[in-house]
Amino acid sequence: MNSAETQLSEAPEQHEIVIIGCGEGGKFLAWTMAKQGKEVLLIERKYVGGSCPNIACLPSKNIIHSAKVASYFFRSQEFGISKDNVRIDMAAVRDRKRKMVQGLVDVHLANFKASGAKLLMGSARFIGPKTLEVTLPDGQTRVVRGDKVIIGVGTHATLPRISGLAEANPLTHIEALELDEIPEHLLILGGGYIGMELAQAMRRFGSRVTVIDRNKALAHGEDADVSQALEDLFHDEGIELKLGTHVKSVEGLSGQAVKLLLVHGKAEEIQTEEILEGSHLLVAAGRTPNTHGIGLELAGVELAEHGYIKVDEQLRTTAPGVWAVGECAGSPQFTHISFDDFRVIREDLSGRRRVTTDRQVPFCVFTDPELARIGLSETEARAKGIPYRVARIPMAADLRTRTLSETRGFMKALIAADSDRILGFTAFGVSAGEIMGAVQIAMIGGLPYTALRDAVITHPTLLEGLTVLFAAVPPVYK
Ligand SMILES: Cc1cc2nc3c(=O)[nH]c(=O)nc-3n(C[C@H](O)[C@H](O)[C@H](O)COP(=O)(O)OP(=O)(O)OC[C@H]3O[C@@H](n4cnc5c(N)ncnc54)[C@H](O)[C@@H]3O)c2cc1C
Repeated sequence: MNSAETQLSEAPEQHEIVIIGCGEGGKFLAWTMAKQGKEVLLIERKYVGGSCPNIACLPSKNIIHSAKVASYFFRSQEFGISKDNVRIDMAAVRDRKRKMVQGLVDVHLANFKASGAKLLMGSARFIGPKTLEVTLPDGQTRVVRGDKVIIGVGTHATLPRISGLAEANPLTHIEALELDEIPEHLLILGGGYIGMELAQAMRRFGSRVTVIDRNKALAHGEDADVSQALEDLFHDEGIELKLGTHVKSVEGLSGQAVKLLLVHGKAEEIQTEEILEGSHLLVAAGRTPNTHGIGLELAGVELAEHGYIKVDEQLRTTAPGVWAVGECAGSPQFTHISFDDFRVIREDLSGRRRVTTDRQVPFCVFTDPELARIGLSETEARAKGIPYRVARIPMAADLRTRTLSETRGFMKALIAADSDRILGFTAFGVSAGEIMGAVQIAMIGGLPYTALRDAVITHPTLLEGLTVLFAAVPPVYK
């Protein structure tokens, strides 16, 4: 008899709803369903509140903000303020972040208490349909069964199969956000949004930074003007980019000395090799779902491509009474999407219908300045054969940016070719994420672009720039 069968021979603890993982979707389901009078058990192996407040969005934005303050110090003369002997204390930077995280964990614990949802710290794996074995921190196990089970186990940083990479013990975002020293030369494998945000922050703290990415452009899925603007920013801040480049092998140990063998160019092109040495190596080369080794096959939960859980538009898995939420369900990898997944499942549990298809997926990359987009890019519109008009203005045309000395970047809007409907909005500029929110609300309300063009918006605010942008929409020629 194996251990799973032994456990199953004992009667499992029965619960109304069992949730695995305390991520955004999982925790809001726990709190909401418990408040509605359901009996809920949430199992979390490490992070009270999940990735976002502990190791991802909020800690990274905290560290990025410290880097922004550092950049102000280094630019202080531009503002007519002098400050000598600027020194970065990374341990203090990290401690500010740790203090914030602890505060957030406390808020989460209070929410569990107030809602009545039970939080069980332990690692869960299925041993049968809707039945889980939970290994507690002291090594003891408990077997639990839910009438309904929700899987929200998230993802982790992918470690690409590169010779010597694992042995080099590279940093992931988790360790990078815990650094109490400034890396002398940080090599970053991956120029996606996590790589870009951390590259700029570490550079601003004084690290030499090199970003290596196999794609030929940063943010390669975005429009060419966006990629170019990001590359110009990185160039101006002294961040080295090795684009169209992959790492063939790694030697050494991150934190001491690492040596990468780089190959420039694709297999079908003429390739050249280069040795690149650095002090630290950070891997930001994509995400892998935490679905391996948790017994999904014993629960009848099938996987889709790349190890994500197969779900329908209501996030139901292939096992009756089992849902998946957030990144592990293959949903776009943002906290606000995991939160919307919560709404989808909440509605299903309440006998109503909400679906994941056709929802807005806005995003913001927290480089400085930020890159934000909602709706269609030009690249997407072209690929889908959707005709559009485009308005584009430099951020400098938004006069508020001049008062801030933050004129870098641009905003652009895509408008339907034959109506005044807003199809998409992209901004690369100061507070782009906040500006995007106003356009998003207009899109939700179905407002024509002329409503923003003709709005009376306070001067000088960043949102005022929207009147300038939408005044630049070309007319419809009939
Ligand atoms: C560095 C970084 C920065 C980011 N910045 C942003 C940002 O600015 N904005 C944004 O919208 N998104 C950002 N993201 C993405 C965002 O963090 C995630 O999309 C979000 O946290 C939603 O994740 P989730 O709910 O799917 O899972 P998670 O929050 O990852 O939760 C899954 C939980 O399940 C637990 N778990 C896993 N397996 C088990 C098991 N077997 N038993 C028990 N528990 C288990 C994990 O410990 C974890 O706590 C960032 C991500 C990273 C890595």
